[in-house]
Amino acid sequence: MRKQIAAANWKMNCTLQQAIDLIDGLIKENISIIPDREVVIAVPFPYLILAKEKLKNRNGFKVAAQNCYTQSSGAFTGEVSTVMLNSIGIDYVIIGHSERREIFGEDNKMLSQKVDICLTNNLKPIFCCGEPLQIRENETQNEYVEKQIRESLFHLESAQLENFVVAYEPIWAIGTGKTASSQQAQEMQAHIRNIFKEKYGGAIAASISILYGGSVKANNAKEIFEKPDVDGGLVGGASLVVAEFATIIKSLK
Ligand code: PGA
Repeated sequence: MRKQIAAANWKMNCTLQQAIDLIDGLIKENISIIPDREVVIAVPFPYLILAKEKLKNRNGFKVAAQNCYTQSSGAFTGEVSTVMLNSIGIDYVIIGHSERREIFGEDNKMLSQKVDICLTNNLKPIFCCGEPLQIRENETQNEYVEKQIRESLFHLESAQLENFVVAYEPIWAIGTGKTASSQQAQEMQAHIRNIFKEKYGGAIAASISILYGGSVKANNAKEIFEKPDVDGGLVGGASLVVAEFATIIKSLK
């Protein structure tokens, strides 16, 4: 069975003390994570080792980086490689968040290289896709998301996509307080699963966890996560508040 995942994306937030308080707060909630569920915390690079250390004996808790570079090592001042992330025991890397695409110009080709280097170094990508508002208004979101997936992932072998994680994040719903309706999320996520089914077959498509991201909060998580093709969420703002994120974790199916 594919995993149900609550993933926190802290983005560029928190001082060291705030990071400690947030993780300790979550630990104090003492949420038991049953098999086939996972909580992933994507923290800024300086806090990765801390998060890993604090969560190491917690069943079901995983730590993610929010980005990585396309190469393993070398003269790339300021970048962080998947070899480094693997060497400190990191589990996941968020790849292709819309903020990376829009602010830092990461395109589908570069993201395909990032996915490759993650898989080479035993890190699981959380591959983000999703359309801007104008594309949604033109009703061409299905083609838009399909192109993102085709150009970044279709070179992979089926075995590399087993238990893969995709996050559908409509850009117009990120940090705006405007959530896609649970029906809109379900429609797109069924479409995404179908894209994988047509290329890789039903078994692979059924094994992929597809998360929804974009203004997921404690008060809407349950309704969204209930949908059959929504396997949890990638949560920004609400993951910075312990009680909110704890409720979101408890809303997983
Ligand atoms: P949000 O961010 O929950 O604050 O909308 C989600 C994301 O960007 O991953």
